[in-house]
Amino acid sequence: MTTAQPPGSDKDDCSSPTQLSVEEALQRILNPLQTVTETETLPIDQALGRIIATPVLAPIAVPGNDNSAMDGYALSSDDFRLANTSGLPLSGRSMAGHPYGLQLPMGSCVRIMTGAVVPDGADTVVMQEQVELNNDRVVFPSNLKTGNNIRLAGEDLQLGQTVLASGHLLKPADIGLLASLGLTEVTLFRKIRTAFFSTGDELIAGGTPLQPGQIYDSNRHTLTALLQLAFIEPIDLGLIGDQPGLIRTAFQQASSAQHSGADVIITSGGVSVGDADYVKEVLDEQGEIDFWRIAIKPGRPLAFGKIDQAWFFGLPGNPVSSYVTFDLFTRPALYKLAGAAPVKPLQIKAKLTRAIVKRPGRTEYQRGYYVQASDGSLTVASTGNQSSGVLSSISLANCYIVLSADSAGAVEDDLVTIEPFTDR
Ligand code: AMP
Ligand code: MG
Repeated sequence: MTTAQPPGSDKDDCSSPTQLSVEEALQRILNPLQTVTETETLPIDQALGRIIATPVLAPIAVPGNDNSAMDGYALSSDDFRLANTSGLPLSGRSMAGHPYGLQLPMGSCVRIMTGAVVPDGADTVVMQEQVELNNDRVVFPSNLKTGNNIRLAGEDLQLGQTVLASGHLLKPADIGLLASLGLTEVTLFRKIRTAFFSTGDELIAGGTPLQPGQIYDSNRHTLTALLQLAFIEPIDLGLIGDQPGLIRTAFQQASSAQHSGADVIITSGGVSVGDADYVKEVLDEQGEIDFWRIAIKPGRPLAFGKIDQAWFFGLPGNPVSSYVTFDLFTRPALYKLAGAAPVKPLQIKAKLTRAIVKRPGRTEYQRGYYVQASDGSLTVASTGNQSSGVLSSISLANCYIVLSADSAGAVEDDLVTIEPFTDR
C-alpha cells in the first residue's frame, strides 16, 4: 500500500490532476491493436465461440429445391378450377427424402409431405385438412392461392451469398448453418495467447491456512474464469511475490518461446504508487508502458503498453477494480486482437429503487441487481457496499449501473442506465 494514504482510505480514490475518460482510455488501447493474421482450419464442431477469418460463401442454395411446408397435396394453379369442381386424381407421392421425380401430369395432383420436393409442374400445396377425398379424386377448396405452403429454393441461403462474414463470432446456430451447407470445416483466426499472473507478498493460494497479514489470491482465479473464451489460449504464470527479480522472470517467461510468445500479458496488482509496487518499477525499465489514471470508479489505475511483442494490461489489485477494468478495457482489446467485430455492451434504462450517492468527476460502474416486473418494466438497486475490495458486490450483481462522470448521484425513481451481464 502507498504510504501517502490515510488509514482505511480506498486506494483507487486518490485524486490526480490528469485523468483520461473511459472512452479516451478505450480508444488509446484499441487504436494501435491489429488483429492476428494467422488462421487455422478446424472441424465445425470445434469452432463454437471462435472467430471467422475467411468469409463463408454458400456452395449450394438452402433449401436446394422448392419443398412443401405442410403435409397435403401439390397441384398446378392451371388446374385450380378443375380441382375445386370435379377434383383431381392422384398421380403419386412425394415424401421427405423420396421425391416424386417426374413432371406432374396435367389435371392431377400428388400426395406430399413436409420437406418433400415439390414436383416440376406443381406450384401450390394445400394442407390435407382442407381437402375432401371423393372416391379416387381429391377435391380442393375454392380459395386456393398460387404458391401457398411452398418453401422456395434458396429462401434461406442463396448460392454464392456471404453466409458468415470475417469477424463473426460463431454461435450455436451458426454451426448449424454451416452444417446446412454441407460444410465440415471453417477457417478461423488463431487463438490469442494470453499470459497472466498476480502479484503481492500478502497473497497465498487456497488450500493453506492464512498466516497473519495474508489473504487468498482471488484475482488470478477470476481472470482464469474471465479468460475462458474459446478464442483465448490462457497461460497461467501463477502467483508472484513482490520482488523485482521474480516479476522480471515472469515477464520473460510470458514472452518466451515456451509460450510461443504471448500476444497479451495481464497482471493484477502493483501498478499504483505503493512502496512495494514493483510491477511498475520493472515495466519502467522493460517496456513502453503508460500508467494511466482513468476517471472511473472503481478501477482508476491501469497500465497499458507493450512488452516485446505482447500487449500488456496491468490491472489494479483491488478485486472489483481488477474485474471492472478487465471488462471495460481488456475484454474489448482481446476481441479486437482475435478479429471479432466490435460489439458495444447493451445499455438500457431501469428505475432506481434506492438512491445512489455520487460526486461528479468519474464514471461509476456500480454493481446492481435488476428485476423485470410482469408488465416488462425494469427496476434496479445497487448490491450494497461498493468498495473496490468487496467482490461479493459483483457476485450478487446481474448488471452494472452506469453513472456518467458529470452525474451527481441519483434518487429513488430516477431512470438510470444499466448494462446487463449478458455474457458474464
Ligand atoms: P495493489 O494494487 O497490489 O497495491 O493491491 C491493492 C489491493 O488489492 C490490496 O489490498 C491487495 O491486497 C489486494 N489484492 C491485490 N492482488 C490481489 C489478488 N490477486 N487477490 C486478491 N486481492 C488482491
Ligand atoms: Mg500489491
